[in-house]
Amino acid sequence: MAQGNSSLPSDFIREIIDEHIRTNRFQGRVATRFPPEPNGYLHIGHAKSVCLNFGIAKQYKSTCNLRMDDTDPAGESLEYVESIINDVHWLGFDWEDRLFYASDYFEQLYQFAVQLIKAGKAYVCSLSADEIREQRGTLTEPGKESPYRNRSIEENLDLFARMRAGEFEDGAHVLRAKIDMASPNITMRDPVLYRIKRAAHYRTGMKWCIYPMYDFAHCLSDSLEKITHSICTLEFENNRPLYDWILNQLNVDSHPQQIEFARLNLSYTILSKRRLIELVVKGYVAGWDDPRMPTIAGMRKRGYTPEAIHNFCDRIGVAKNDSLIDVALLEHCVRDDLNEKAPRVMAVLNPLRVVIENYPEGQTEEFDSPYHPQNPEMGSRKVPFSKILYIEKEDFLENPPKKYYRLAPNREVRLRYGYFIKCINVVKDPKTGEVVELHCTYDPETRSGFAPDGRKVDATIHWVSAEHCLPAEVRLYDRLFRVPNPMEGDSDFTNYLNPKSLEILKSCRVEPSLANASPGGRFQFERLGYFCTDLKDSQPGRLVFNRIVTLRDTWAKISEKEKR
Ligand code: ATP
Ligand code: MG
Repeated sequence: MAQGNSSLPSDFIREIIDEHIRTNRFQGRVATRFPPEPNGYLHIGHAKSVCLNFGIAKQYKSTCNLRMDDTDPAGESLEYVESIINDVHWLGFDWEDRLFYASDYFEQLYQFAVQLIKAGKAYVCSLSADEIREQRGTLTEPGKESPYRNRSIEENLDLFARMRAGEFEDGAHVLRAKIDMASPNITMRDPVLYRIKRAAHYRTGMKWCIYPMYDFAHCLSDSLEKITHSICTLEFENNRPLYDWILNQLNVDSHPQQIEFARLNLSYTILSKRRLIELVVKGYVAGWDDPRMPTIAGMRKRGYTPEAIHNFCDRIGVAKNDSLIDVALLEHCVRDDLNEKAPRVMAVLNPLRVVIENYPEGQTEEFDSPYHPQNPEMGSRKVPFSKILYIEKEDFLENPPKKYYRLAPNREVRLRYGYFIKCINVVKDPKTGEVVELHCTYDPETRSGFAPDGRKVDATIHWVSAEHCLPAEVRLYDRLFRVPNPMEGDSDFTNYLNPKSLEILKSCRVEPSLANASPGGRFQFERLGYFCTDLKDSQPGRLVFNRIVTLRDTWAKISEKEKR
Protein backbone atom coordinates (compact mmCIF):
# COMPACT_ATOMS: atom_id res chain seq x y z
CA MET A 1 0.00 0.00 0.00
CA ALA A 2 1.20 3.53 -0.74
CA GLN A 3 2.18 5.95 1.94
CA GLY A 4 -0.44 8.06 3.64
CA ASN A 5 -0.94 11.69 2.75
CA SER A 6 1.56 12.87 5.33
CA SER A 7 4.38 12.59 2.82
CA LEU A 8 4.46 12.92 -0.93
CA PRO A 9 3.09 9.77 -2.51
CA SER A 10 5.46 7.63 -4.46
CA ASP A 11 4.60 4.84 -6.84
CA PHE A 12 5.93 3.22 -9.99
CA ILE A 13 4.47 5.96 -12.19
CA ARG A 14 6.16 8.74 -10.25
CA GLU A 15 9.37 6.72 -10.38
CA ILE A 16 9.13 6.59 -14.16
CA ILE A 17 8.52 10.34 -14.27
CA ASP A 18 11.49 10.97 -11.96
CA GLU A 19 13.66 8.87 -14.25
CA HIS A 20 12.45 10.82 -17.30
CA ILE A 21 13.29 14.07 -15.56
CA ARG A 22 16.74 12.74 -14.72
CA THR A 23 17.39 11.66 -18.29
CA ASN A 24 15.81 14.79 -19.77
CA ARG A 25 13.45 12.66 -21.84
CA PHE A 26 10.90 15.46 -22.31
CA GLN A 27 13.31 18.36 -21.70
CA GLY A 28 12.36 18.03 -18.05
CA ARG A 29 8.69 18.71 -18.79
CA VAL A 30 5.77 16.88 -17.17
CA ALA A 31 2.27 17.23 -18.62
CA THR A 32 -0.63 14.90 -17.87
CA ARG A 33 -4.31 14.84 -18.79
CA PHE A 34 -7.54 13.34 -17.57
CA PRO A 35 -9.53 12.22 -20.62
CA PRO A 36 -13.08 11.09 -19.74
CA GLU A 37 -15.59 10.25 -22.43
CA PRO A 38 -18.72 12.33 -21.71
CA ASN A 39 -21.04 9.34 -21.92
CA GLY A 40 -21.84 9.09 -18.22
CA TYR A 41 -21.06 10.62 -14.84
CA LEU A 42 -17.67 10.16 -13.20
CA HIS A 43 -17.38 7.45 -10.55
CA ILE A 44 -14.93 6.71 -7.76
CA GLY A 45 -12.72 4.82 -10.23
CA HIS A 46 -12.40 8.01 -12.26
CA ALA A 47 -11.58 9.83 -9.03
CA LYS A 48 -8.54 7.56 -8.71
CA SER A 49 -7.40 8.65 -12.16
CA VAL A 50 -8.24 12.33 -11.47
CA CYS A 51 -6.26 12.29 -8.22
CA LEU A 52 -3.37 10.57 -9.96
CA ASN A 53 -3.16 12.86 -13.00
CA PHE A 54 -3.93 16.15 -11.25
CA GLY A 55 -1.95 15.02 -8.21
CA ILE A 56 1.14 14.52 -10.36
CA ALA A 57 0.64 17.97 -11.89
CA LYS A 58 0.52 19.50 -8.42
CA GLN A 59 3.50 17.58 -7.15
CA TYR A 60 5.71 18.36 -10.16
CA LYS A 61 4.41 21.93 -10.46
CA SER A 62 3.27 21.10 -13.96
CA THR A 63 -0.04 20.92 -15.79
CA CYS A 64 -2.92 18.50 -16.18
CA ASN A 65 -5.43 19.05 -18.98
CA LEU A 66 -9.08 18.10 -18.81
CA ARG A 67 -10.00 16.59 -22.14
CA MET A 68 -13.39 15.38 -23.20
CA ASP A 69 -12.64 12.25 -25.19
CA ASP A 70 -15.68 12.75 -27.35
CA THR A 71 -15.01 10.98 -30.62
CA ASP A 72 -17.96 8.58 -30.53
CA PRO A 73 -21.27 10.45 -30.87
CA ALA A 74 -23.30 7.59 -29.36
CA GLY A 75 -24.32 8.43 -25.83
CA GLU A 76 -22.25 11.58 -25.46
CA SER A 77 -23.94 14.75 -24.26
CA LEU A 78 -23.53 18.20 -22.82
CA GLU A 79 -25.15 17.10 -19.56
CA TYR A 80 -22.29 14.67 -19.06
CA VAL A 81 -19.69 17.30 -19.98
CA GLU A 82 -21.14 19.66 -17.38
CA SER A 83 -21.27 16.95 -14.73
CA ILE A 84 -17.62 16.05 -15.35
CA ILE A 85 -16.52 19.70 -15.08
CA ASN A 86 -18.51 20.03 -11.87
CA ASP A 87 -17.17 16.86 -10.33
CA VAL A 88 -13.48 17.47 -11.07
CA HIS A 89 -13.81 20.98 -9.63
CA TRP A 90 -15.56 19.62 -6.58
CA LEU A 91 -12.68 17.20 -6.08
CA GLY A 92 -10.54 20.33 -5.80
CA PHE A 93 -8.68 20.36 -9.10
CA ASP A 94 -8.30 23.05 -11.72
CA TRP A 95 -7.19 23.01 -15.34
CA GLU A 96 -7.19 26.80 -15.83
CA ASP A 97 -7.76 27.40 -19.56
CA ARG A 98 -6.88 23.85 -20.55
CA LEU A 99 -10.27 22.30 -21.14
CA PHE A 100 -10.03 20.49 -24.47
CA TYR A 101 -12.34 18.43 -26.65
CA ALA A 102 -11.06 15.65 -28.88
CA SER A 103 -13.89 16.63 -31.25
CA ASP A 104 -12.09 19.94 -31.80
CA TYR A 105 -9.32 17.89 -33.41
CA PHE A 106 -11.55 16.14 -35.99
CA GLU A 107 -10.09 18.09 -38.92
CA GLN A 108 -6.50 17.58 -37.78
CA LEU A 109 -7.16 13.89 -37.18
CA TYR A 110 -8.57 13.58 -40.67
CA GLN A 111 -5.43 15.18 -42.10
CA PHE A 112 -3.27 12.77 -40.10
CA ALA A 113 -5.23 9.89 -41.62
CA VAL A 114 -4.64 11.27 -45.11
CA GLN A 115 -0.93 11.50 -44.29
CA LEU A 116 -0.92 7.82 -43.26
CA ILE A 117 -2.62 6.84 -46.52
CA LYS A 118 -0.07 8.85 -48.49
CA ALA A 119 2.71 7.02 -46.67
CA GLY A 120 1.14 3.70 -47.68
CA LYS A 121 0.38 2.95 -44.04
CA ALA A 122 -3.42 2.93 -44.18
CA TYR A 123 -6.02 1.62 -46.62
CA VAL A 124 -9.73 1.66 -47.17
CA CYS A 125 -11.15 -1.80 -46.51
CA SER A 126 -14.57 -2.77 -47.84
CA LEU A 127 -15.10 -5.92 -45.81
CA SER A 128 -18.05 -5.89 -43.42
CA ALA A 129 -17.48 -5.61 -39.67
CA ASP A 130 -18.26 -9.33 -39.33
CA GLU A 131 -15.81 -10.30 -42.03
CA ILE A 132 -13.09 -8.18 -40.47
CA ARG A 133 -13.70 -9.88 -37.14
CA GLU A 134 -13.65 -13.37 -38.71
CA GLN A 135 -10.41 -12.68 -40.52
CA ARG A 136 -8.64 -11.24 -37.52
CA GLY A 137 -7.46 -14.67 -36.34
CA THR A 138 -6.96 -15.75 -32.75
CA LEU A 139 -4.22 -15.83 -30.14
CA THR A 140 -2.85 -18.99 -31.75
CA GLU A 141 -3.71 -18.32 -35.40
CA PRO A 142 -2.59 -15.39 -37.51
CA GLY A 143 -5.20 -13.23 -39.24
CA LYS A 144 -5.91 -13.11 -42.97
CA GLU A 145 -4.96 -10.17 -45.10
CA SER A 146 -7.89 -8.21 -46.49
CA PRO A 147 -8.38 -8.44 -50.28
CA TYR A 148 -8.46 -4.60 -50.21
CA ARG A 149 -5.11 -4.30 -48.45
CA ASN A 150 -3.17 -3.48 -51.59
CA ARG A 151 -5.39 -0.79 -53.03
CA SER A 152 -3.33 2.01 -54.55
CA ILE A 153 -2.66 5.16 -52.58
CA GLU A 154 -4.72 7.14 -55.15
CA GLU A 155 -7.69 4.84 -54.79
CA ASN A 156 -7.44 4.99 -50.99
CA LEU A 157 -7.27 8.78 -50.99
CA ASP A 158 -10.26 8.97 -53.29
CA LEU A 159 -12.36 6.51 -51.28
CA PHE A 160 -11.46 8.11 -47.96
CA ALA A 161 -12.44 11.57 -49.25
CA ARG A 162 -15.74 10.14 -50.49
CA MET A 163 -16.31 8.44 -47.13
CA ARG A 164 -16.04 11.87 -45.54
CA ALA A 165 -18.28 13.40 -48.20
CA GLY A 166 -21.06 11.01 -47.28
CA GLU A 167 -21.16 8.99 -50.51
CA PHE A 168 -21.36 5.61 -48.76
CA GLU A 169 -23.66 3.82 -46.40
CA ASP A 170 -22.67 3.24 -42.79
CA GLY A 171 -20.40 0.21 -42.66
CA ALA A 172 -19.63 0.14 -46.40
CA HIS A 173 -15.94 0.94 -45.84
CA VAL A 174 -13.51 1.55 -43.02
CA LEU A 175 -9.99 2.96 -42.93
CA ARG A 176 -7.48 0.48 -41.53
CA ALA A 177 -3.87 0.76 -40.51
CA LYS A 178 -1.56 -1.41 -42.63
CA ILE A 179 0.55 -3.13 -40.00
CA ASP A 180 0.79 -6.91 -39.71
CA MET A 181 -2.00 -9.49 -39.86
CA ALA A 182 0.36 -12.06 -38.32
CA SER A 183 1.34 -9.96 -35.33
CA PRO A 184 1.14 -11.90 -32.04
CA ASN A 185 -0.61 -8.82 -30.67
CA ILE A 186 -4.11 -8.90 -32.16
CA THR A 187 -4.44 -5.13 -31.69
CA MET A 188 -1.76 -4.72 -34.35
CA ARG A 189 -3.58 -6.77 -37.02
CA ASP A 190 -4.59 -3.89 -39.28
CA PRO A 191 -6.83 -2.15 -36.73
CA VAL A 192 -9.70 0.05 -37.88
CA LEU A 193 -8.92 3.77 -37.64
CA TYR A 194 -12.09 5.35 -39.05
CA ARG A 195 -15.64 4.20 -39.64
CA ILE A 196 -18.69 5.67 -41.33
CA LYS A 197 -21.39 6.51 -38.82
CA ARG A 198 -24.29 8.81 -39.51
CA ALA A 199 -25.02 10.10 -36.06
CA ALA A 200 -25.40 13.60 -34.68
CA HIS A 201 -22.53 14.60 -32.44
CA TYR A 202 -23.46 16.81 -29.49
CA ARG A 203 -20.85 19.39 -30.54
CA THR A 204 -20.23 18.95 -34.26
CA GLY A 205 -23.80 18.02 -35.20
CA MET A 206 -23.96 16.36 -38.63
CA LYS A 207 -20.75 17.94 -39.86
CA TRP A 208 -19.03 14.56 -39.87
CA CYS A 209 -20.25 11.16 -40.98
CA ILE A 210 -16.91 9.46 -40.33
CA TYR A 211 -15.52 9.21 -36.82
CA PRO A 212 -12.02 8.20 -35.66
CA MET A 213 -11.59 5.17 -33.42
CA TYR A 214 -10.29 5.55 -29.87
CA ASP A 215 -6.79 4.22 -30.64
CA PHE A 216 -6.29 6.70 -33.47
CA ALA A 217 -7.79 9.73 -31.75
CA HIS A 218 -6.29 9.20 -28.33
CA CYS A 219 -2.57 9.13 -29.07
CA LEU A 220 -2.87 12.03 -31.50
CA SER A 221 -4.90 14.13 -29.05
CA ASP A 222 -2.20 13.48 -26.44
CA SER A 223 0.46 14.45 -28.95
CA LEU A 224 -1.33 17.63 -30.07
CA GLU A 225 -1.57 18.71 -26.44
CA LYS A 226 2.11 17.88 -25.88
CA ILE A 227 1.29 15.50 -23.07
CA THR A 228 4.40 13.78 -21.69
CA HIS A 229 2.84 10.95 -19.66
CA SER A 230 -0.37 9.40 -20.94
CA ILE A 231 -1.62 7.45 -17.96
CA CYS A 232 -4.38 4.93 -18.57
CA THR A 233 -5.73 1.68 -17.15
CA LEU A 234 -4.25 -1.78 -17.70
CA GLU A 235 -6.67 -2.94 -20.36
CA PHE A 236 -4.85 -0.63 -22.77
CA GLU A 237 -1.51 -2.36 -22.31
CA ASN A 238 -1.93 -4.24 -25.60
CA ASN A 239 -2.81 -0.97 -27.32
CA ARG A 240 0.48 0.69 -26.40
CA PRO A 241 2.36 -0.68 -29.47
CA LEU A 242 -0.41 0.76 -31.66
CA TYR A 243 -0.23 4.09 -29.80
CA ASP A 244 3.48 4.21 -30.54
CA TRP A 245 3.13 2.91 -34.11
CA ILE A 246 0.71 5.66 -35.12
CA LEU A 247 2.85 8.41 -33.63
CA ASN A 248 6.01 6.95 -35.21
CA GLN A 249 4.48 6.67 -38.69
CA LEU A 250 3.31 10.27 -38.53
CA ASN A 251 6.65 11.45 -37.20
CA VAL A 252 5.03 13.91 -34.79
CA ASP A 253 7.19 16.20 -32.64
CA SER A 254 5.57 15.20 -29.43
CA HIS A 255 5.50 11.51 -28.53
CA PRO A 256 4.03 10.89 -25.06
CA GLN A 257 4.84 7.84 -22.97
CA GLN A 258 1.79 5.68 -22.25
CA ILE A 259 1.83 4.13 -18.78
CA GLU A 260 -0.81 1.71 -17.55
CA PHE A 261 -2.02 1.18 -13.97
CA ALA A 262 -4.63 -1.06 -12.37
CA ARG A 263 -8.16 0.28 -12.39
CA LEU A 264 -10.03 0.57 -9.15
CA ASN A 265 -12.51 -2.17 -8.33
CA LEU A 266 -14.56 -1.64 -5.20
CA SER A 267 -16.53 -4.25 -3.28
CA TYR A 268 -20.34 -4.04 -3.01
CA THR A 269 -20.54 -1.83 -6.06
CA ILE A 270 -19.91 -1.69 -9.79
CA LEU A 271 -17.71 0.76 -11.63
CA SER A 272 -18.72 0.50 -15.23
CA LYS A 273 -20.52 3.36 -16.88
CA ARG A 274 -22.54 1.02 -19.04
CA ARG A 275 -23.97 -0.74 -15.99
CA LEU A 276 -24.42 2.46 -14.02
CA ILE A 277 -26.46 3.83 -16.94
CA GLU A 278 -28.61 0.72 -16.71
CA LEU A 279 -29.33 1.40 -13.04
CA VAL A 280 -30.36 4.97 -13.88
CA VAL A 281 -32.39 4.20 -17.00
CA LYS A 282 -34.24 1.26 -15.49
CA GLY A 283 -35.03 3.25 -12.36
CA TYR A 284 -33.20 1.11 -9.82
CA VAL A 285 -31.86 4.39 -8.42
CA ALA A 286 -33.21 7.95 -8.46
CA GLY A 287 -30.54 9.23 -10.89
CA TRP A 288 -26.81 9.55 -11.40
CA ASP A 289 -26.56 11.50 -8.16
CA ASP A 290 -28.52 9.02 -6.08
CA PRO A 291 -26.56 8.86 -2.80
CA ARG A 292 -26.16 5.10 -3.21
CA MET A 293 -24.38 5.46 -6.55
CA PRO A 294 -20.57 5.17 -6.64
CA THR A 295 -20.54 8.37 -8.72
CA ILE A 296 -18.83 11.54 -7.53
CA ALA A 297 -22.22 13.29 -7.77
CA GLY A 298 -23.83 10.56 -5.66
CA MET A 299 -21.09 10.69 -3.06
CA ARG A 300 -21.38 14.48 -2.89
CA LYS A 301 -25.13 14.20 -2.30
CA ARG A 302 -24.50 11.48 0.24
CA GLY A 303 -22.28 13.89 2.17
CA TYR A 304 -18.83 12.47 1.43
CA THR A 305 -16.07 15.10 1.46
CA PRO A 306 -13.47 15.62 -1.27
CA GLU A 307 -10.81 15.25 1.43
CA ALA A 308 -12.09 11.78 2.31
CA ILE A 309 -11.94 10.74 -1.34
CA HIS A 310 -8.39 12.12 -1.70
CA ASN A 311 -7.32 10.25 1.39
CA PHE A 312 -8.88 7.07 0.04
CA CYS A 313 -7.05 7.46 -3.28
CA ASP A 314 -3.76 8.07 -1.45
CA ARG A 315 -4.26 4.99 0.67
CA ILE A 316 -5.11 2.60 -2.17
CA GLY A 317 -2.11 3.86 -4.11
CA VAL A 318 -1.27 2.98 -7.69
CA ALA A 319 -0.23 -0.50 -8.70
CA LYS A 320 0.23 -2.72 -11.72
CA ASN A 321 -2.06 -5.58 -10.71
CA ASP A 322 -5.84 -5.61 -10.45
CA SER A 323 -7.43 -6.02 -7.06
CA LEU A 324 -10.76 -5.56 -5.35
CA ILE A 325 -10.65 -2.83 -2.72
CA ASP A 326 -12.91 -3.22 0.29
CA VAL A 327 -15.57 -0.48 0.33
CA ALA A 328 -15.10 -0.44 4.11
CA LEU A 329 -11.81 1.38 3.49
CA LEU A 330 -13.63 4.18 1.67
CA GLU A 331 -16.19 4.38 4.49
CA HIS A 332 -13.34 4.44 6.99
CA CYS A 333 -11.78 7.43 5.21
CA VAL A 334 -15.11 9.27 5.26
CA ARG A 335 -15.54 8.59 8.98
CA ASP A 336 -11.97 9.62 9.69
CA ASP A 337 -12.48 13.00 8.05
CA LEU A 338 -15.91 13.64 9.56
CA ASN A 339 -14.82 12.61 13.03
CA GLU A 340 -12.67 15.71 13.07
CA LYS A 341 -14.99 18.08 11.30
CA ALA A 342 -18.56 17.22 12.19
CA PRO A 343 -20.29 18.87 15.13
CA ARG A 344 -22.10 16.47 17.46
CA VAL A 345 -25.85 16.89 17.86
CA MET A 346 -28.73 14.75 19.07
CA ALA A 347 -31.44 13.26 16.90
CA VAL A 348 -33.94 10.51 17.57
CA LEU A 349 -34.78 8.40 14.54
CA ASN A 350 -37.52 6.19 16.01
CA PRO A 351 -39.03 8.22 18.83
CA LEU A 352 -40.43 6.74 22.04
CA ARG A 353 -42.20 9.20 24.36
CA VAL A 354 -40.86 9.54 27.88
CA VAL A 355 -42.67 11.45 30.63
CA ILE A 356 -40.53 12.58 33.58
CA GLU A 357 -43.09 12.31 36.37
CA ASN A 358 -41.26 14.34 38.99
CA TYR A 359 -40.23 17.17 36.65
CA PRO A 360 -42.35 20.32 37.01
CA GLU A 361 -44.94 20.89 34.30
CA GLY A 362 -44.04 23.84 32.06
CA GLN A 363 -40.46 24.08 33.25
CA THR A 364 -37.55 24.16 30.82
CA GLU A 365 -33.84 24.26 31.43
CA GLU A 366 -30.89 24.25 29.10
CA PHE A 367 -27.76 22.16 29.09
CA ASP A 368 -24.73 23.78 27.58
CA SER A 369 -23.38 21.03 25.35
CA PRO A 370 -20.10 21.07 23.41
CA TYR A 371 -20.22 20.53 19.66
CA HIS A 372 -17.11 18.39 19.78
CA PRO A 373 -15.78 16.59 22.85
CA GLN A 374 -12.14 16.83 21.69
CA ASN A 375 -12.29 20.24 20.11
CA PRO A 376 -13.56 23.03 22.40
CA GLU A 377 -12.94 25.54 19.62
CA MET A 378 -16.05 24.28 17.88
CA GLY A 379 -18.08 25.86 20.69
CA SER A 380 -21.29 24.67 22.21
CA ARG A 381 -25.03 25.06 22.01
CA LYS A 382 -27.89 25.01 24.50
CA VAL A 383 -29.92 21.84 24.52
CA PRO A 384 -33.35 22.31 26.11
CA PHE A 385 -34.74 19.81 28.59
CA SER A 386 -38.36 19.55 29.79
CA LYS A 387 -40.93 17.15 31.21
CA ILE A 388 -41.58 15.20 28.02
CA LEU A 389 -38.76 13.74 25.98
CA TYR A 390 -38.21 11.39 23.10
CA ILE A 391 -35.63 8.66 23.23
CA GLU A 392 -34.75 6.02 20.65
CA LYS A 393 -37.16 3.07 20.66
CA GLU A 394 -34.30 0.62 20.62
CA ASP A 395 -32.82 2.17 23.77
CA PHE A 396 -35.56 0.54 25.83
CA LEU A 397 -36.32 -3.16 26.29
CA GLU A 398 -38.94 -4.48 28.60
CA ASN A 399 -37.12 -7.78 29.07
CA PRO A 400 -33.47 -6.93 28.54
CA PRO A 401 -31.12 -9.80 27.75
CA LYS A 402 -27.73 -9.99 29.43
CA LYS A 403 -25.34 -7.29 28.21
CA TYR A 404 -28.17 -4.94 27.28
CA TYR A 405 -27.33 -1.99 29.50
CA ARG A 406 -29.75 0.59 28.25
CA LEU A 407 -33.13 1.53 29.68
CA ALA A 408 -35.39 -1.16 31.13
CA PRO A 409 -38.06 -1.27 33.85
CA ASN A 410 -36.62 -0.09 37.19
CA ARG A 411 -33.29 0.62 35.60
CA GLU A 412 -31.43 3.92 35.63
CA VAL A 413 -29.46 5.41 32.71
CA ARG A 414 -27.81 8.73 31.99
CA LEU A 415 -29.23 11.17 29.49
CA ARG A 416 -26.41 12.58 27.37
CA TYR A 417 -25.38 15.97 28.85
CA GLY A 418 -28.13 15.64 31.48
CA TYR A 419 -29.70 13.84 34.37
CA PHE A 420 -30.02 10.21 35.36
CA ILE A 421 -33.53 8.90 34.71
CA LYS A 422 -35.13 5.71 35.96
CA CYS A 423 -38.00 3.89 34.29
CA ILE A 424 -40.88 3.27 36.70
CA ASN A 425 -43.77 2.45 34.42
CA VAL A 426 -44.38 1.20 30.88
CA VAL A 427 -47.46 2.17 28.89
CA LYS A 428 -48.52 -0.18 26.11
CA ASP A 429 -51.01 -0.12 23.31
CA PRO A 430 -53.79 -2.32 24.66
CA LYS A 431 -54.39 -3.86 21.24
CA THR A 432 -50.89 -4.53 19.96
CA GLY A 433 -48.97 -4.70 23.20
CA GLU A 434 -46.41 -2.30 21.72
CA VAL A 435 -44.64 0.00 24.18
CA VAL A 436 -45.87 3.53 23.44
CA GLU A 437 -44.67 5.55 26.42
CA LEU A 438 -42.38 5.32 29.41
CA HIS A 439 -42.83 6.97 32.74
CA CYS A 440 -39.60 7.85 34.44
CA THR A 441 -38.26 9.84 37.34
CA TYR A 442 -35.16 11.98 37.23
CA ASP A 443 -32.64 12.65 39.96
CA PRO A 444 -32.14 16.46 40.24
CA GLU A 445 -28.76 15.85 41.91
CA THR A 446 -27.30 14.35 38.71
CA ARG A 447 -27.40 17.33 36.41
CA SER A 448 -23.63 17.18 36.00
CA GLY A 449 -23.99 13.66 34.64
CA PHE A 450 -22.75 12.13 37.90
CA ALA A 451 -24.47 11.16 41.14
CA PRO A 452 -23.12 12.79 44.33
CA ASP A 453 -23.53 9.46 46.15
CA GLY A 454 -21.22 7.86 43.63
CA ARG A 455 -23.70 5.39 42.16
CA LYS A 456 -23.01 4.41 38.58
CA VAL A 457 -25.14 3.77 35.51
CA ASP A 458 -24.13 1.49 32.69
CA ALA A 459 -25.39 3.47 29.72
CA THR A 460 -25.79 6.95 28.34
CA ILE A 461 -28.54 7.48 25.81
CA HIS A 462 -29.44 10.36 23.50
CA TRP A 463 -32.75 12.21 23.60
CA VAL A 464 -34.61 15.36 22.56
CA SER A 465 -37.17 17.50 24.34
CA ALA A 466 -40.63 16.90 22.84
CA GLU A 467 -41.67 20.53 23.11
CA HIS A 468 -38.50 21.92 21.56
CA CYS A 469 -37.40 19.37 19.00
CA LEU A 470 -37.95 19.66 15.24
CA PRO A 471 -39.50 17.08 12.95
CA ALA A 472 -37.23 15.70 10.25
CA GLU A 473 -37.10 13.13 7.51
CA VAL A 474 -34.05 10.91 7.60
CA ARG A 475 -32.89 8.75 4.71
CA LEU A 476 -30.82 5.79 5.74
CA TYR A 477 -28.60 4.76 2.87
CA ASP A 478 -26.85 1.45 2.82
CA ARG A 479 -24.74 -0.40 0.24
CA LEU A 480 -26.38 -0.72 -3.15
CA PHE A 481 -25.48 -4.40 -3.54
CA ARG A 482 -25.69 -7.21 -1.06
CA VAL A 483 -22.71 -9.20 -2.37
CA PRO A 484 -19.03 -8.13 -2.52
CA ASN A 485 -18.74 -8.68 -6.26
CA PRO A 486 -22.03 -8.22 -8.13
CA MET A 487 -20.32 -9.03 -11.45
CA GLU A 488 -19.26 -12.50 -10.36
CA GLY A 489 -21.33 -15.49 -11.40
CA ASP A 490 -23.80 -15.86 -14.24
CA SER A 491 -26.66 -13.99 -12.69
CA ASP A 492 -27.57 -10.49 -13.90
CA PHE A 493 -25.93 -7.98 -11.58
CA THR A 494 -29.28 -6.36 -10.80
CA ASN A 495 -30.30 -9.57 -9.01
CA TYR A 496 -27.79 -8.65 -6.33
CA LEU A 497 -29.24 -5.22 -5.56
CA ASN A 498 -29.75 -4.71 -1.84
CA PRO A 499 -33.51 -4.29 -1.29
CA LYS A 500 -32.76 -2.44 1.93
CA SER A 501 -30.33 0.07 0.45
CA LEU A 502 -32.71 2.92 1.27
CA GLU A 503 -34.98 3.27 4.27
CA ILE A 504 -36.89 6.53 4.70
CA LEU A 505 -37.90 7.53 8.21
CA LYS A 506 -40.48 10.31 8.27
CA SER A 507 -41.10 10.93 11.95
CA CYS A 508 -37.64 11.63 13.30
CA ARG A 509 -36.97 14.37 15.84
CA VAL A 510 -33.85 16.49 15.98
CA GLU A 511 -32.59 19.02 18.51
CA PRO A 512 -33.57 22.66 17.85
CA SER A 513 -30.05 23.84 17.06
CA LEU A 514 -30.50 22.21 13.66
CA ALA A 515 -33.29 24.63 12.66
CA ASN A 516 -30.99 26.53 10.32
CA ALA A 517 -28.63 23.76 9.32
CA SER A 518 -26.90 24.92 6.14
CA PRO A 519 -27.48 23.03 2.90
CA GLY A 520 -25.07 20.12 2.79
CA GLY A 521 -24.10 20.68 6.44
CA ARG A 522 -22.61 17.57 8.06
CA PHE A 523 -23.21 16.40 11.62
CA GLN A 524 -22.63 13.48 13.85
CA PHE A 525 -25.96 12.38 15.30
CA GLU A 526 -24.65 11.03 18.58
CA ARG A 527 -24.50 7.26 18.74
CA LEU A 528 -26.07 6.95 15.25
CA GLY A 529 -23.66 8.06 12.57
CA TYR A 530 -22.79 10.97 10.31
CA PHE A 531 -25.59 12.76 8.52
CA CYS A 532 -25.92 15.74 6.17
CA THR A 533 -28.80 17.94 5.17
CA ASP A 534 -29.97 17.02 1.69
CA LEU A 535 -28.73 19.66 -0.76
CA LYS A 536 -31.96 19.76 -2.72
CA ASP A 537 -34.77 18.69 -0.44
CA SER A 538 -33.92 20.08 2.98
CA GLN A 539 -35.31 23.48 3.98
CA PRO A 540 -35.91 25.29 7.25
CA GLY A 541 -39.22 23.91 8.44
CA ARG A 542 -38.80 20.74 6.39
CA LEU A 543 -35.52 19.21 7.34
CA VAL A 544 -34.21 16.24 5.40
CA PHE A 545 -31.03 14.43 6.39
CA ASN A 546 -29.06 11.76 4.54
CA ARG A 547 -27.05 9.21 6.42
CA ILE A 548 -23.47 9.55 5.18
CA VAL A 549 -22.06 6.60 7.08
CA THR A 550 -22.70 4.76 10.34
CA LEU A 551 -20.33 4.96 13.29
CA ARG A 552 -19.50 1.26 13.11
CA ASP A 553 -16.07 0.93 11.57
CA THR A 554 -15.79 -2.45 9.95
CA TRP A 555 -12.51 -1.45 8.31
CA ALA A 556 -10.83 -0.80 11.65
CA LYS A 557 -11.87 -4.30 12.69
CA ILE A 558 -10.55 -5.85 9.50
CA SER A 559 -7.17 -4.13 9.77
CA GLU A 560 -6.95 -5.03 13.47
CA LYS A 561 -7.45 -8.66 12.51
CA GLU A 562 -4.81 -8.43 9.78
CA LYS A 563 -2.30 -7.03 12.26
CA ARG A 564 -2.82 -9.91 14.64
P1 ATP B 1 -16.05 2.63 -17.87
O1 ATP B 1 -15.32 1.34 -18.01
O2 ATP B 1 -16.69 2.84 -16.55
O3 ATP B 1 -16.96 2.95 -19.02
P2 ATP B 1 -14.04 4.19 -19.12
O4 ATP B 1 -12.63 3.79 -18.86
O5 ATP B 1 -14.61 3.84 -20.43
O6 ATP B 1 -14.91 3.72 -17.90
P3 ATP B 1 -13.47 6.94 -19.54
O7 ATP B 1 -14.40 8.09 -19.50
O8 ATP B 1 -12.89 6.55 -20.83
O9 ATP B 1 -14.24 5.73 -18.90
O10 ATP B 1 -12.33 7.12 -18.45
C1 ATP B 1 -11.59 8.28 -18.28
C2 ATP B 1 -10.32 7.96 -17.54
O11 ATP B 1 -10.62 7.39 -16.28
C3 ATP B 1 -9.49 6.94 -18.30
O12 ATP B 1 -8.16 7.38 -18.29
C4 ATP B 1 -9.68 5.67 -17.54
O13 ATP B 1 -8.53 4.88 -17.62
C5 ATP B 1 -9.94 6.16 -16.11
N1 ATP B 1 -10.77 5.20 -15.39
C6 ATP B 1 -11.99 4.75 -15.72
N2 ATP B 1 -12.43 3.83 -14.85
C7 ATP B 1 -11.45 3.70 -13.91
C8 ATP B 1 -11.28 2.89 -12.74
N3 ATP B 1 -12.23 2.03 -12.33
N4 ATP B 1 -10.15 3.03 -12.03
C9 ATP B 1 -9.19 3.89 -12.42
N5 ATP B 1 -9.29 4.67 -13.50
C10 ATP B 1 -10.40 4.58 -14.25
MG1 MG C 1 -13.32 4.71 -22.23
